[in-house]
Amino acid sequence: MASIARCLLRTGQTTAKVVSREYLNNARSLSSLADLPETHSMLQKSCRDFVDNELMPIAAKLDKEHLYPKDIIKKMGELGLMAVDVPHEEGGTGLDYLAYAIAMEEISRGCASTGCIMSVNNSLYLGPINKWATAAQKEVFQEPFLHGDRVGCFGLSEPGNGSDAGAASTTARLDGDSWVLNGTKAWITNGYEAEAAVVFATTDKSKKHKGISAFIVPKPVPGLSLGKKEDKLGIKATSTCYLIFEDCRIPRENLLGEEGFGFKIAMQTLDAGRIGIAGQGLGIAQAAFECAIDYAQKRMAFGSPISKMQTVQSKLADMALQIESSRLLTYKAALLKDAGKPFSKEAAMAKLAASEAATFCSHQAIQILGGMGYVTDMPAERHYRDARITEIYEGTSEIQRLVIAGSLLKEYHSS
Ligand SMILES: Cc1cc2nc3c(=O)[nH]c(=O)nc-3n(C[C@H](O)[C@H](O)[C@H](O)COP(=O)(O)OP(=O)(O)OC[C@H]3O[C@@H](n4cnc5c(N)ncnc54)[C@H](O)[C@@H]3O)c2cc1C
Repeated sequence: MASIARCLLRTGQTTAKVVSREYLNNARSLSSLADLPETHSMLQKSCRDFVDNELMPIAAKLDKEHLYPKDIIKKMGELGLMAVDVPHEEGGTGLDYLAYAIAMEEISRGCASTGCIMSVNNSLYLGPINKWATAAQKEVFQEPFLHGDRVGCFGLSEPGNGSDAGAASTTARLDGDSWVLNGTKAWITNGYEAEAAVVFATTDKSKKHKGISAFIVPKPVPGLSLGKKEDKLGIKATSTCYLIFEDCRIPRENLLGEEGFGFKIAMQTLDAGRIGIAGQGLGIAQAAFECAIDYAQKRMAFGSPISKMQTVQSKLADMALQIESSRLLTYKAALLKDAGKPFSKEAAMAKLAASEAATFCSHQAIQILGGMGYVTDMPAERHYRDARITEIYEGTSEIQRLVIAGSLLKEYHSS
């Protein structure tokens, strides 16, 4: 574990940025993606050791008992995994998005719930805070959330609108020195544990999505109550609940970015967040694959290991193909972001491919394990349940296809 800390500390922001730029130049030929830069492969190895030794052994218990992994999150914070791309000089780990995608894959390989908590704090909460908060806001709402002592959450979805985020009906009204929030945010991950939330609310209904603003809401705060914990199919070690605002007053200075900029903040946050969810999907797919290939070589049927059967081999090959291709898409999206280039389409492609790989691989893993795939003695059924969410949150697969097609139609616009 200490080795992750050493690795992250040694790299620092400058090195990570240089590595990334140099890597992007090489990455023009995709074959170079086969070898990660030294910083990133050290990070990968350190995360793998942490997962194998500390996270994987307790993942089934966390899932079964719906336990929020408080101690693990604290350790991950100490290791630099809760603020991967927040600049070093601001107290973060100072790595890049490629590093974040790699770490998300490795942590989710051990426990998809923990990957989810990590992704919400890194990209959905700290992402917009780091980009748009003032220095004074960062002191209160960034610094304490960098090292796993506190986590944040992100409130965009509502009971009446998820994919159609621009139709938000939560309102914020200026009253003296306070914003007064009313409305309900739905499905909020980390809702129970978070000590602050980035929340989107309409400040001018007549302007539709251009009238949405972003706010930083401390938790707890009078006027904000939580709904029941949702009883979910997977990622059961995370809490998901409503945030209910009833005349909830927050200071005027808690507006994040400019008034009316909220929709833009939300969309840009989700673009980046999708690279993290692609990493989560990859981790689940990889875990399902590893479980299946190990079992296939040990399980005997008709006098030989089932890995000798060509239909089983064909499943393993298809799983590996989906994992490898979506990993390349994920790295490409991360590299584009790190280079300051447009990456919306690539992030949507990566999220779509990796989440579908997670669903496909976890389905095939159960098939390869037969009856043992269907019971909780083996992790395959957990991977199958956890995989499903990656096709839903931060934009469903249908929405990713709309984002991709929208970009393509702009690129191929015929005059
Ligand atoms: C476990 C969990 C955790 C979550 N965490 C968070 C969180 O932390 N913060 C947050 O803000 N939200 C969160 N969400 C909400 C999540 O982002 C939404 O559920 C998701 O965006 C889909 O919205 P919806 O559920 O309202 O589905 P809807 O938007 O009602 O969609 C229903 C179906 O219609 C399809 N559809 C909708 N519009 C179109 C279209 N234009 N074209 C084609 N098909 C379409 C969808 O793809 C889907 O198949 C979470 C959800 C879950 C389940």
